Amino acid sequence: MVSQNAGRGTQNGVAMSDILLTPGPTPLPPQVREALGRPIIHHRTSQYRALFKRALQAMQTAMQTAQPVFCLTSSGTGAMEAAVVNLLSPGDEAIVILGGKFAERWQHLCKAYGITAVTVPVAYGDPVNPQQVAEVLQAHPKAKAVFSTLCETSTGVVNDIKSLAAATRSSGAVLVVDAISGLLADECQTDAWGVDVVVTGSQKGLMLPPGLAFLSMSQKAWALVEQATCPRFYTDLRLYQKSLADDDTPFTSAVSTVVALDEALKLVLQTGVPQMIQRCAAMAQAARAGVQAIGLTLFSKRPSNGVTAVNVPAGVDGKQLTKRMYDRSKVMVAGGQGDMAGKIFRFAHMGYISPEDVLAGLAALEQALTELGYKLTPGQSVKAAKAVFDQGAPVVGAAR
Ligand SMILES: *Cc1c(COP(=O)(O)O)cnc(C)c1O
Repeated sequence: MVSQNAGRGTQNGVAMSDILLTPGPTPLPPQVREALGRPIIHHRTSQYRALFKRALQAMQTAMQTAQPVFCLTSSGTGAMEAAVVNLLSPGDEAIVILGGKFAERWQHLCKAYGITAVTVPVAYGDPVNPQQVAEVLQAHPKAKAVFSTLCETSTGVVNDIKSLAAATRSSGAVLVVDAISGLLADECQTDAWGVDVVVTGSQKGLMLPPGLAFLSMSQKAWALVEQATCPRFYTDLRLYQKSLADDDTPFTSAVSTVVALDEALKLVLQTGVPQMIQRCAAMAQAARAGVQAIGLTLFSKRPSNGVTAVNVPAGVDGKQLTKRMYDRSKVMVAGGQGDMAGKIFRFAHMGYISPEDVLAGLAALEQALTELGYKLTPGQSVKAAKAVFDQGAPVVGAAR
């Protein structure tokens, strides 16, 4: 596979372009970059409608659902907001599972629309205990929705969505999953597990620039859409539903990004959804082996395949660490958010991030740590990660 970063060249030993090991945006495959550079076509044409239809069908495969998938022109949060306003009415009760900065966004959205959020507290770094959610559901039989997160990107934790779906299924509530960073990295069997609403965005596992967001909707969820009275206009899914019958959108489509989506999804289908996930799992395993080989520890109790959250070792300034990795090696990893700032860093390996990128990231990490006074044996982390890759990992775009 050709990495976005392959042959990026160096000048005086300094890399010329960035290696993004961030949980969004992620690197773009050449096919996607080429699609973005094509002359634009008009969106109210049969040519565009055919492409849009094909892309949304492929999105159903990627989201593991036969339910309709809606495409919004927004970042991922726009689809989170669309879920809230389309499912609920002011004064409704909803259960919000906490555990990180993105989970807390559900709480903020509920507050903005006058929805009573019953929160399930979860410590940063921990996954939610599905049994606890089942108990909260029993205590709040009027709750109309359970808001959850597949991969909590701020802590690197993947939640047990299968068990959450089992706990929700027999209740009156719908299960809504923020899979913005989790899609194609961690398993989320939407229909097989009975997940009602899955929300995702373009700039993470889908290997696209930011700008598109998606929602899948079960029939149980659609019944709520018909009744909801939250204010909504641009994100009113009833408008999208109507247009979808003609493979169309109610407002101007993000034409070039959708053309790129079509290309990205061709790669996904060619690779296979299970293989995309397997590949991320191999990268995560390599990243974990790499950091642990130099004595670092993981922040997450249930690590995701898409992003590895690592504790900054004692005596090292976490902000200096990420800054130095970028300044020296043009390797961009994410720092901690909120209370976790300076205490953890987050090494992503979702989407088109390649094994070579992971190895380059670990080399940059070793160098920065050494410069900041941390004692390690040079080469150990790269060696440990290589040993994982030597067992083989699926390649994006390779025929199965
Ligand atoms: C990135 C991310 C979001 C936010 O998406 P935007 O595209 O920035 O609006 C929400 N939830 C999770 C889990 C994410 O990783």
